[in-house]
Amino acid sequence: MRSLVVGEWEDGAIADATLRVIQAASGRGLPVDVLTFSPAMANAAACVDGIGRVLLASEDVPNPETLAALLQRITSDYSMIAASHRTAGRAALPRAAALSGNAFLADITRVVSAQRFVRGLYAGSVVATIESTSTTLFATIRTSSFGPACATGGTASIVALDPVAPFTATVLIDQQGAALDAHDLSSARIVVAGGRGLASKENMDKLGTLARNMGAALGASRAAVDAGYAPNAAQVGQTGKTVAPDIYLAFGISGAIQHLAGMKDSRVIVAVNKDPDAPIFSVADYGIVGDLFDVMGELDAHARATGDVP
Ligand SMILES: Cc1cc2nc3c(=O)[nH]c(=O)nc-3n(C[C@H](O)[C@H](O)[C@H](O)COP(=O)(O)OP(=O)(O)OC[C@H]3O[C@@H](n4cnc5c(N)ncnc54)[C@H](O)[C@@H]3O)c2cc1C
Repeated sequence: MRSLVVGEWEDGAIADATLRVIQAASGRGLPVDVLTFSPAMANAAACVDGIGRVLLASEDVPNPETLAALLQRITSDYSMIAASHRTAGRAALPRAAALSGNAFLADITRVVSAQRFVRGLYAGSVVATIESTSTTLFATIRTSSFGPACATGGTASIVALDPVAPFTATVLIDQQGAALDAHDLSSARIVVAGGRGLASKENMDKLGTLARNMGAALGASRAAVDAGYAPNAAQVGQTGKTVAPDIYLAFGISGAIQHLAGMKDSRVIVAVNKDPDAPIFSVADYGIVGDLFDVMGELDAHARATGDVP
């Protein structure tokens, strides 16, 4: 049997998230195919190292219902169909699993074997190893837990799929990216996050600029989002995004359990807080007790001195 990865296309290239899902699927030790939605995407996917086949759908990025119907039709060719744990995969894959009478597993963080996977439960309080007995497992992957597959070196063949009847009861009218920063929070290697301690949207914007200059994505606590300092898409935590970057820098975040649920698996956590008893220090590898604006100023000065700021 084989694995199928539902591809995503961003800025004229195979999305970094897709390369990470491919890497995760490769961990099963079975051939990996990729589903694509345009000839350009199919050609790029065919070059990804280790890909068996590229499937080219005739639909141009279908809505979740149409994608689910498409996946249902090809389900029997695969023992796993995977996508990144982002909006499209989370909408389409459970539908496809229900339509085909198979299981769905969300937010996989480790692939143990072809049928065994690890994921967090109860906001990360429990790490569960789950064995699938489903004929085909539909799964979303936490992309920050896997490295990217190499985008070059492959020579996969491209197979065109027949169209499916489109689902027309819902129509996508418009799509707008959150213009907060250029980096995807879920797969960023560095996340710079701000909390209520930032005290204003202007200060959060400054932190966003600092993050961009460091090649990082900007995250935020729920308190900062509720106060209007940062958009919803930036929220990290139990009711926001789960991230596990190489470095997580927390500025003015107290470290409530609901926030920790979304970032405690980060490799290195650096916390800046003026309160030495702030709970964030219990998970931090490096803690700075002090004023966050002083530290932001020093980081900015360092970036300028090293020429990292344009
Ligand atoms: C069901 C539920 C779900 C939730 N989901 C989430 C979630 O997904 N994500 C999330 O983040 N929260 C979530 N929360 C909210 C969570 O409980 C906290 O209220 C929130 O995380 C607090 O955000 P904060 O740390 O920014 O603010 P605060 O707790 O107010 O902390 C601000 C910190 O900034 C420090 N500070 C202030 N000024 C400075 C300065 N100048 N320099 C240095 N430090 C300074 C203070 O010492 C303090 O520690 C949830 C709550 C519930 C009940």
